[in-house]
Amino acid sequence: MTKTIMPYQTIGIIGGGQLGRMMSFAAKAMGYRVAVLDPTPNCPAGQVSDVEITAAYHDMEAIEKLAAMSDVITYEFENIDYDALTYLSESAYLPQGSEVLNITQHRYREKSAIAEMGIPVADFCLIDSIEALEQNISYPSVLKTTTGGYDGKGQVVLRTEEDLDEAKKLVENSECILEKFMRFSKEISVIIARSTTGEMAVFPIAENIHVNNILHQSIVPARISKAVEEEALAYAYKIAEELHVIGVLAIEMFVVDDKVYINELAPRPHNSGHYTIDACLTSQFEQHIRAVCGLPLGDTALHTPVVMVNILGDHMDQANMQNVAPYLPLMAAGKLHLYGKAQAVNKRKMGHINVLGDTDAVLQAIEKTGIWRKV
Ligand code: AMP
Repeated sequence: MTKTIMPYQTIGIIGGGQLGRMMSFAAKAMGYRVAVLDPTPNCPAGQVSDVEITAAYHDMEAIEKLAAMSDVITYEFENIDYDALTYLSESAYLPQGSEVLNITQHRYREKSAIAEMGIPVADFCLIDSIEALEQNISYPSVLKTTTGGYDGKGQVVLRTEEDLDEAKKLVENSECILEKFMRFSKEISVIIARSTTGEMAVFPIAENIHVNNILHQSIVPARISKAVEEEALAYAYKIAEELHVIGVLAIEMFVVDDKVYINELAPRPHNSGHYTIDACLTSQFEQHIRAVCGLPLGDTALHTPVVMVNILGDHMDQANMQNVAPYLPLMAAGKLHLYGKAQAVNKRKMGHINVLGDTDAVLQAIEKTGIWRKV
């Protein structure tokens, strides 16, 4: 049963990081009340929401409290505790359900589901023992834990036999999948939304540049051929429909020889969609709120080219976080977003800046600041 959730009603968000914060901003702008559950006091989303519940994600009392005060529940991350998810599916209104999470929480299930739709993924197999690794190894390849990895954590790239020891350590501690190493020309992502009414809308494709496995820049429009764009969008619609996604789904893809392969899904707003806040008529966060609340989806048109640059702890003045001087040269056409995190820890995402305007000029301006050369 789907419901329409109207302004003044309460949206409960599990997870109070930057994605929750930006969801909350969008919901508050439309007149909703927002309650957030997160283990960290004064978390990024808690700072801008009506209610902040500080408790562990598996604390069932806290989950029940959130459910009791919320007309609809959503989440900002994938790894929600199984018991909490079961309770919410049965006793609260969780329009996104638990099925998509069950698939996207686990890389083997995720890749299998996509392959079964006839959509290309890198060749992969399940590795649940050292023997399985030895039998299936080929070079180059990438070993990834089936659960819990992000930003390159829980991954080993195997280029030669010398990397095998490190790979074995990963397999000893966790179930893994082994993937063929893809020599991609570009990484791109598609953010698509599907509402409780079945309406779908897709955002312009982002071209993503990673540094040390962490997203550095998203360039939009992506510099790809029309054929790649059409293929990527067709896959996105098919995946969102076949998985009965509700809310926003982010799909990371590789472009190899002008063909598209799916790398990973995230059933939530995504770092590579932050550009939408300032460059599209509707942001990915507003779209997510509309989709789970059953409102008509918003226009996703891009009104200006944009480059989103992530700001990591490494890029901030760790002794004086108020010092945003390195970003000031970009501010005329740039929109600064900082997440309100208490400490600038290396590799941690602290914020981002969306720089609007002609792509080449913007890339040059970013390069001139020297911000990213520090990494
Ligand atoms: P993931 O955690 O799967 O998103 O991987 C993080 C990053 O590692 C990706 O954005 C790629 O840059 C790289 N990567 C992941 N899988 C592969 C692959 N099969 N071949 C080549 N590079 C990969």
